[in-house]
Amino acid sequence: MQGMMMHRDLRIIDILTYAAEAFPDQGIVSARDEGDVNRLSYPEILGRVSQLAHGLKKLGVKEGDRVATLAWNGHRHFELYYGISGIGAVCHTLNPRLPAEQMSYILNHAQDSVLCVDLSLIGLVEALKGDVPEGMKIVVMTDRAHMPDTSLDVLCYEELLDGQPTDMDWPEFPETTAAGLCYTSGTTGNPKGALYSHRSTVLHALYVVAGHPQSLSSGRRALPVVPLFHVNAWGMPYTAPLAGMTMVMPGRFLDGASLYDLMQAEEVYTAWGVPTVWAGLQAEIEKRGNKPPKGFEDLVVGGSAAPRAMIAAFEAMGVNVNQAWGMTEMSPIGTRGLLPEWLKSASKDEQIDAKTGAGRRLFGVEFKIVDDDGNRLPHDGETTGELYVRGNTVIRAYFENEEATKAAFDADGWFGTGDVSTVGEDGRLIIRDRAKDLVKSGGEWISSIDLENHATAHPDIAACAVIAVPHPKWDERPVLVVVPAGDKRITLDALHDFMSDHFAKWQLPDDIVFVDDLPLTATGKVSKLTLREQFSDYVLPEFRESTA
Ligand code: ADP
Repeated sequence: MQGMMMHRDLRIIDILTYAAEAFPDQGIVSARDEGDVNRLSYPEILGRVSQLAHGLKKLGVKEGDRVATLAWNGHRHFELYYGISGIGAVCHTLNPRLPAEQMSYILNHAQDSVLCVDLSLIGLVEALKGDVPEGMKIVVMTDRAHMPDTSLDVLCYEELLDGQPTDMDWPEFPETTAAGLCYTSGTTGNPKGALYSHRSTVLHALYVVAGHPQSLSSGRRALPVVPLFHVNAWGMPYTAPLAGMTMVMPGRFLDGASLYDLMQAEEVYTAWGVPTVWAGLQAEIEKRGNKPPKGFEDLVVGGSAAPRAMIAAFEAMGVNVNQAWGMTEMSPIGTRGLLPEWLKSASKDEQIDAKTGAGRRLFGVEFKIVDDDGNRLPHDGETTGELYVRGNTVIRAYFENEEATKAAFDADGWFGTGDVSTVGEDGRLIIRDRAKDLVKSGGEWISSIDLENHATAHPDIAACAVIAVPHPKWDERPVLVVVPAGDKRITLDALHDFMSDHFAKWQLPDDIVFVDDLPLTATGKVSKLTLREQFSDYVLPEFRESTA
């Protein structure tokens, strides 16, 4: 028997029309490429989004067309999210940190018909030297007065909007219609596209608002450092308006001092981003007498594991820290914070320990962990296996990429995350490592995340990463790559002493090497791949001695 309820297709634009009605005093504050700070309310933004939609249609954009964006976090990028998907086209976000050849590959693979680019990023488009889809139009996201001097044939964003109606009869289409396209960073091989639908995007927003009630609460201000150019800024352009929050868009300056000043001036309550960015903010706060920016009470960290020392430092400043775990292929968030009731009953140390985990399973995403043969393992908080996921916000295939699709799913249609994890009875997720970053030593494995987490707590270590180095007897051994905190160089003995309470002797690194900086990926995570390449000629001390 069928239920007897109406069926209305879920549409992304309905989030914004709702926010304009329900939260007219909230909106978007943007630090812009032009050097000013712009303020728009949700009703004003909705008017501009309607103008944009009319403008895009005039440019010839039709349902299903891909429109690319190459931009920092700002109101125009947000407008493109809604204007493009509102008319049934696909908002394809491009990562400006990718090398030119990957950018060309992605533009051509997606066959984008229009590319909207921020003023400060026009040079990246010039560098593509025409290696873009034939007939692709380029729109510079600024007004006439700021249009750049460029050899490219370009249109002006504000002129596209000028004179267009500020309302729109938004078209209806099936909720399974594609709305957004994002390519994985492509650390190995070519990038692969995740193609989100209206349905998956709206459901993801609802799941995340329900799962992060403390961070997403109306009348407060949220700062996405996580970029709109990648994985939909963890869905914040949808969750913030849905929850009635104002978004503070930082633009292109993401160093500690710029973030501190913006957060202080705009009284940001919650900030979301990867650990490397928060390390910069933490240092800035320490520089300014350990006083966090005014009103800053909540931090959401994700993208890679947050070190324990960082969590402890922010918590000691009175900032509540939560981790979110997820993937491009999952829209991207798959976990929620720990229960406030549990946190109240735990000691500060227990709380911080728990927060080094990735949080608890979010409603709408199912987890299973399996052994090497694909057999299910128990969710007991101890047993470790590879994590597979399933749900309405998880991809069912990669965009036009059969080969990658074949490799990504098991026989029952679950998506393999490549993360080696434990899951607790209460859905608590601990990421032990990415399968390819685990150190396999003597038939056992060592978690690089665990080692890094404990090592960064040492005062002489500013940042570090573990790499696996081949070993004839043990297969692989861990080596710690360290960015020193000051002039002191920690010795291997001192490191072992510091870490021996938490690790068996065989799990401790065989060597320490010092570097000035750790290489980062296009999404701001430490790039283990680059490190492994950098140290491909490295020889472990025991073999250096034997050849000496
Ligand atoms: P990106 O493209 O942003 O790098 P990916 O989808 O490639 O995003 O990254 C997803 C991976 O990042 C996960 O599979 C996991 O290994 C890692 N990750 C994300 N969030 C966390 C977290 N909170 N803790 C540990 N690892 C994380």
